[in-house]
Amino acid sequence: MPSAHRDPSYRGRFAPSPTGALHFGSLVAAFGSWLAARHAGGTWLVRVEDLDPPREVAGAAEAQLRALSGFGFESDGPAWRQSGRDDAYRSALDRLLADGLAFECHCSRSELAGEGGIHRQCIAGAHRSDPAIRLRVPDGCDIAFEDAVHGRIVQRVDREVGDFVLRRADGLWAYQLAVVVDDAAQGITDIVRGADLLDSTPRQILLQRAL
Ligand code: GLU
Repeated sequence: MPSAHRDPSYRGRFAPSPTGALHFGSLVAAFGSWLAARHAGGTWLVRVEDLDPPREVAGAAEAQLRALSGFGFESDGPAWRQSGRDDAYRSALDRLLADGLAFECHCSRSELAGEGGIHRQCIAGAHRSDPAIRLRVPDGCDIAFEDAVHGRIVQRVDREVGDFVLRRADGLWAYQLAVVVDDAAQGITDIVRGADLLDSTPRQILLQRAL
């Protein structure tokens, strides 16, 4: 579990996507992240991850914020909304492109299906007007981290994930980019979230290093 000592520099967050009501699993994550931050005597922030308008449910963000307050989980400061953070994501993406760490990709999902959906090199048959932008993942890219519950997690990102999307072909920001930019901008030190995101963490560590 999260560190058991007081640490006022601890900064945690809960970052729900407004795709519906907070379900039990989200509440457990909210409670865990809130409790760890309060126990440390640190800061706890709420961030609305409203990056994907087609998947968003009208009124869900407000309902989630109300539900959190109803349980007594009050954010230290106004909740950020990712929909207002375009400039920050664009400048991070521009930096990655300028550094040669990201590239435009014209491959379609069906073209990549033959590679198990994993992108290692462009195989696009045609140029599209709306290319995605991907992070170039170097060969042999092993990322390891220590999870407080699950222990040491190791992922061979090039083989298991491949070059991953930072901005989608439909122009929307990918979760992986936005979460890394915002966790850094908010000075987050510790993350308590659902185990379904364990396999995203290596991508996020890689992006943190790239940025
Ligand atoms: N917005 C993500 C979700 O609701 C969580 C992101 C995170 O905690 O990193 O699943």
